Amino acid sequence: MSAGRLRSPILPGSAIGVLGSGQLGRMFAIAARRMGYRVHTYSPDQDTPTGQVADLEVTAPYDDLDAVRQFASRVSAVTFEFENVPAETAAAAAECAPVRPSGHVLHIAQHRLREKTFLANAGLPVTPFRRIGSFADLEAAGLQLGLPAVLKTAGFGYDGKGQYTIRAGSELSVAWKYVGESEAVLESFIDFDREVSIVAARSERGNFVHFGVVENRHHNHILDITIAPACVSSSVLRDAVEIAREVLEKLDVVGVLCVEFFLCKDGSLLINELAPRPHNSGHFTFDANVTSQFEQQLRAVCGLPFGSVQQLAPASMANILGDMWQEGEPDWAAAASAPNVKLHLYGKLEARPGRKMGHLTALAATPEQALKDVQAARRLLAGQSNAHSF
Ligand code: AMP
Repeated sequence: MSAGRLRSPILPGSAIGVLGSGQLGRMFAIAARRMGYRVHTYSPDQDTPTGQVADLEVTAPYDDLDAVRQFASRVSAVTFEFENVPAETAAAAAECAPVRPSGHVLHIAQHRLREKTFLANAGLPVTPFRRIGSFADLEAAGLQLGLPAVLKTAGFGYDGKGQYTIRAGSELSVAWKYVGESEAVLESFIDFDREVSIVAARSERGNFVHFGVVENRHHNHILDITIAPACVSSSVLRDAVEIAREVLEKLDVVGVLCVEFFLCKDGSLLINELAPRPHNSGHFTFDANVTSQFEQQLRAVCGLPFGSVQQLAPASMANILGDMWQEGEPDWAAAASAPNVKLHLYGKLEARPGRKMGHLTALAATPEQALKDVQAARRLLAGQSNAHSF
């Protein structure tokens, strides 16, 4: 039998391999271990967020393909929590175990230009863009798309890294230098109403489930707050679900994928980005839903039926970035005084500005109340007293 097809289902007691070792792998590992699976993690680092809760932490470079094959041969299936794994790594793993989602999905989603080209060719709504291979391309594209526009590196970008908003023609050369004078994408700047996303899962048999549309607020290009559910019209909800369903089908995803959108002022949706794995905007599902995005990833990878995606209460998630450590250790006890707020910390050893160290999730009677509560808890964590009572 080829390693590509699952000997479904892979049952508890089996070992699942995770490429990558950050917080997404950690929460996947917690979900998998709760269901009696073993988890092996592979990355170049040691004492990682995933490694701290996994059964086995393998530390080796992603381009050590023999080490990757050895890793994959000791597990029943391989998934990933980090899409910037080289394509050769996923291919080497696939020689020894099923890789879910496949390396093909990873290959598309790890490169903005491939991703946008795939979406446009599939007839899906995507932010207008042009491929930029030279400064002359940038000048021409600036004229075609108009300014402001956003120049982004073609590959390996996340959380706004490697992007420059060009507001005037005089900034073109600065922007070109900023992206390293290498292959890039120029996108129209979208004066959106809000940013929303949808996390969905698909099985090998093509079953599709989703966690609804959530609203995301960013700060310095990094996700800051998620509100679930988003307050959107039924037509936006329907469109977002249909687009997500098409994306997962057309990519033949087996696993979890997040579609991030710009919700335009006329109610239309444009896809900003795909993440072929659980996503920061789906972290609330760990506390608020019958089945979390991490458990759905496990179920998809193992060929088990999906659990219910029902959300038990409105929720809001606030990220905790390394910046919070600038004034000393956050006030954990104060944040714990909010009975409807859950604290998640990722076990990262060093707090750096902009680094995602953990998050808070508040559950409340309404999304608005959940938002207020999670923001109040984060202020308490930062040592800012306030009069909010939970
Ligand atoms: P990205 O890393 O491409 O997802 O971008 C991070 C954030 O930058 C997005 O979530 C938006 O808040 C902002 N952004 C990126 N591209 C655009 C765009 N074309 N128009 C307006 N805002 C953008």
